[in-house]
Amino acid sequence: MSKYKVVIGLEMHCELKSNSKVFSSARNSYNSLPNDNVRPIDMAFPGTLPVVNKKCVKDALKMSMVLNCTIPQYMYFDRKNYYYPDLPKGYQITQMESPVGINGKIDIECNGQIVPVTIHDIHLEEDAASLDHYFGTSCIDYNRAGVPLLELVTEPCLSSADEAVAFLETMRSIYQFCDVSEGDTKKGQIRCDVNVSIMDEDAKEFGTRVEIKNVNSFGGVHDAIIYEIERQSKLKDEGRYDEVIQETRRWDEETAQTIHMRSKVDAIDYKYFVDPNIPKYKITKEWLEEIKKEIPMLPLECKQKYINEYGLSDYDAGVIIKEKAYVDYYEECLSLNINPKVACNWLTTQILGEINHQEISLNDFYIKPRLLKQLIDALDAKTISSKQAKEIFFKAASEQKEPKSYIKEGMTQISDEKELTKIVEAIMERSENQIAQYKNGKTNLFDYFVGQVMKETKGKANPVITKELINKYLN
Ligand code: ADP
Ligand code: MG
Repeated sequence: MSKYKVVIGLEMHCELKSNSKVFSSARNSYNSLPNDNVRPIDMAFPGTLPVVNKKCVKDALKMSMVLNCTIPQYMYFDRKNYYYPDLPKGYQITQMESPVGINGKIDIECNGQIVPVTIHDIHLEEDAASLDHYFGTSCIDYNRAGVPLLELVTEPCLSSADEAVAFLETMRSIYQFCDVSEGDTKKGQIRCDVNVSIMDEDAKEFGTRVEIKNVNSFGGVHDAIIYEIERQSKLKDEGRYDEVIQETRRWDEETAQTIHMRSKVDAIDYKYFVDPNIPKYKITKEWLEEIKKEIPMLPLECKQKYINEYGLSDYDAGVIIKEKAYVDYYEECLSLNINPKVACNWLTTQILGEINHQEISLNDFYIKPRLLKQLIDALDAKTISSKQAKEIFFKAASEQKEPKSYIKEGMTQISDEKELTKIVEAIMERSENQIAQYKNGKTNLFDYFVGQVMKETKGKANPVITKELINKYLN
C-alpha cells in the first residue's frame, strides 16, 4: 500500500478481427509466413489508395456505443507523420480530430467493488509492421502493417494496479463477447501504454506522469505499476521528487523493472492533418440503430444472470465471464442439460486447472461439453464414483479418448458404512459355524468373510471398510 495517492491512465490497443486489413484487401491473419499478407497499399507504393473496411468501422462504432461514448456525425481519419522502419508510408492512418467515440464511461468490478471508469476516447487506426531482431540484423514483417487496431484511452481515473488489470480484463472480455476481437494477449493482440503518477492525499494537482510503453501482458501491467509506484514513492520520500520526470519507459520482463527510453520534453511533433485520400462520410442514425441491435449481453449482465438464475456464487460467476470461451463452454453444458452448478464446478476447477496445466486455451481442450456429459451421466447413474470420475477425466484428457471408453458397468464401490454394515451383519448371522472356528484359532477364515461380502456385492464393496467392519463384528 502506497502512502501516496496513485493515479493511472491506460491506453489499450486491441487488434480487431476481420477478413482483410483496415485500408487494404490483404488478409488479416495471424498464422501466416512473414510478408505473406501484403498488398501494394500496405507498402505505400505510389498510386495506391486506401479503401476503408466497413466491418472495422462498424466494430469500432459498436465498442464506442458499449462504452457510452459520444459518436461524431462524420467518419474520417488523420495522418500521424513520423518515420520508422516498421511504417513504410511514413505516417500512420489514425483518428485524432474526430475519434469514433469520446467522453465515455463504463463500470467495472474490482475486488467486489464497482469502479466507474471514464473514457477519454476510442479511435480506429492501423497497426504498424513488426520488427524481428537477430544478432546484428533486423527483419521486417509487413503482415501486421495495416491490421485494424482500436485504441482506447482512459482518463487518469484508476487508482491501483488491481483496478488497471480489472479494467483490461473487462475490456478484453467485452471485445470477445461482442465478437470484435479474439483479444489474445499471447498473440500480441492487446498492448498497453500505462501512465502512472503519485501525489499527496490532499494535493490538488496531479503528479508527474511516467508512461510505460507497449506492455503486452496483464501480469506485466500489474507488475510495472507496482514497480513504478515504489520507484516514484521512494524518490518522493527522499525529497528527490524532481527526479521523477515526464518520460517514456519500458517494462523489462526479465529484470522486472521499468527502464528509461526517452524523455517527453523532446516529444516528436507528428504534424497531424486530415487524410485527404479517405473521403469523409456520414454516420447515419439508421446504421447506428442497426449496429446497436448486434450488441449482445455483456459480461457483467451475464454474471448477474448466472448468480440469479443458476445460483452460482459471485466468485464462480466472475471466473466464467472472464473469457468468452468459458462462457461458450458453460452455455453448451447447459444446453446439454447438465446441472448448472455441476457444470460450473467442473469448469472452474478440473477444466481450468487442466488447461492451465497443459498451457492451452479452452477452445483447444479435448474434453468438449459433449464428452464431459458422458462422465456426468455415469456419475448420476452411479456407475462410477466421483473419485473415479476425476480419474477418468484426467486420463481421457491426456490420452484424448472419449470418457465412455473408460467407463465399465459395475465400477462403483460401495463405501457407505451403513449399507456395508447391513451386508456384513447379514452374512455374519448366517455364518455361526465359521465364526466359532475362527474364534478357535482358524484365523485365515477372515478372508472367507471378506469373500462372502464381495460375492454379495458383486465385488463393489470397499475392501478397506469391509475389513474394518468384519474386524469390529468379530471382536
Ligand atoms: P501521450 O501522447 O503522451 O501518450 P495521451 O494524451 O495519448 O498522451 O495519453 C495520456 C494518457 O495519460 C491517458 O491515458 C491519461 O489518462 C493519462 N494521464 C494523463 N495525466 C496523467 C497523470 N497525471 N497520471 C497518470 N496518468 C495520466
Ligand atoms: Mg501514449
